[in-house]
Amino acid sequence: MLRTLLAFTLAVQPVLAADLPDLGEVSRQYFSDQEEQALGRAIMRDVYADPRYLDDPEVESYLNQLGYKLVSVSSRNQREFTFFVVSDPSINAFAMPGGNIGVHTGLLLAAQSESELASVIAHEIAHVTQDHIARMVAAQSQSYWPTMAALALALLASRSNPNVASAAIASTQAYSIQNQLNYSRDYEREADRLGYEMLTRGGYDPRGMSGFFNRLQRANRFYDTSAPAYLRTHPLTSDRIADMESRSEAAPYHQVEDSLDFQLVRARLRAQEGSPQDAVLAARAALKEKRYSSETAARYGLAAALVRARQFKEAETEVQKLLSGKPSHPMIQQLAARAALAAGQSGLALQRFQAGSEAYPGYRPLQYGHIAALLNAGRNSDALARADKQLTLYPLDRRLWRLAAQAHAQLGHRLQSHRAQAEALALSGNLVAALEQITLGLKAGDGGFHEMSAAEARRREWQEIEKAQRKN
Ligand SMILES: [Zn+2]
Repeated sequence: MLRTLLAFTLAVQPVLAADLPDLGEVSRQYFSDQEEQALGRAIMRDVYADPRYLDDPEVESYLNQLGYKLVSVSSRNQREFTFFVVSDPSINAFAMPGGNIGVHTGLLLAAQSESELASVIAHEIAHVTQDHIARMVAAQSQSYWPTMAALALALLASRSNPNVASAAIASTQAYSIQNQLNYSRDYEREADRLGYEMLTRGGYDPRGMSGFFNRLQRANRFYDTSAPAYLRTHPLTSDRIADMESRSEAAPYHQVEDSLDFQLVRARLRAQEGSPQDAVLAARAALKEKRYSSETAARYGLAAALVRARQFKEAETEVQKLLSGKPSHPMIQQLAARAALAAGQSGLALQRFQAGSEAYPGYRPLQYGHIAALLNAGRNSDALARADKQLTLYPLDRRLWRLAAQAHAQLGHRLQSHRAQAEALALSGNLVAALEQITLGLKAGDGGFHEMSAAEARRREWQEIEKAQRKN
């Protein structure tokens, strides 16, 4: 029970004052590492099940690349992070236990430079490295937090979108914790300071921070629909903005260019907005009137919108221009392959996936696309071989396990298919469903001795973890 955990942590750390001048390095005494991991897993299970979770490996991959670049230059304690995207037009980003950081598409699109986006993410990373949420949770003594799962749900809802999930929260009787889990001004100042440090060390423009927060404040004053969740959890004061401004004024001036990745990701998100026809019109107009900072990204956006609108011939024309021009980029290769696939040209699609995975072997979204296209073409053994090879490199990749499960299923391997499905579920934080799957696999009766005993060992391992979690 979390209540017991709280009683314990409160005994160790009786008062967590609201005003700690320099919060400094944090000792991990609020949650144990195991408890925090369990909470993090419960949160991600809810995230993956939420229809607003954007299951787009390319956007997610970009966000993780940016996030880890900032984490790598953080002076504070390092840990695992997971960055994910929420399909929601409001401007928001939020950090949760377990190093899980969510970013709304609204923020990705509203940021006027990559440095602005980086500044918000760096701020969230600092909330994580400083254990701010764990400290706030530990500071509460309420007895209405029945389980880790309820806390996970309440945190997710209060962070991401208080309106959507309030019914679910009310049912957990934890509704009122929302307001008690807003960061204090001291936490905000600390996150600003450490965020600034990451931003400058990471080579971003520190003015991105004050620029963005200034605009956020103005936007919120006039149109109070775009930013409330963010501004409620991260109280923005004139002191904070003044601090940011004085810090960035002291920094040496240097122009920082946005990466092509940033531009492509935004073009990709914009191509998904509104009706397919509107997206095509908007992308065409931007390209024609040269309203872009990267022609490649603008053309990419048009090609993506055309594929979405099923105008395959026009899409292919733009794809050809992208492929023959410079610069090249794995997202361009992926779009080219996907355009061919959507147009029913599976041979061409496979050629393009092959070329892309050879040119960018470490870019996993291309691998997912390639494996899915092989499965689609009925080349199940090739798909499985590719998935297995990737899994030796990335054994914690739930998408690869899901693709491996599909390949095994299409090859008629029942035990291995359920086993791979179970691994994907376990990595998504859903241990109960993973146990169900692996049990089905063991009952299928088509595994060899080695496969059976490996699956049996895995089931026992998960049962132990699940039992320990239930005890909590
Ligand atoms: Zn904050």
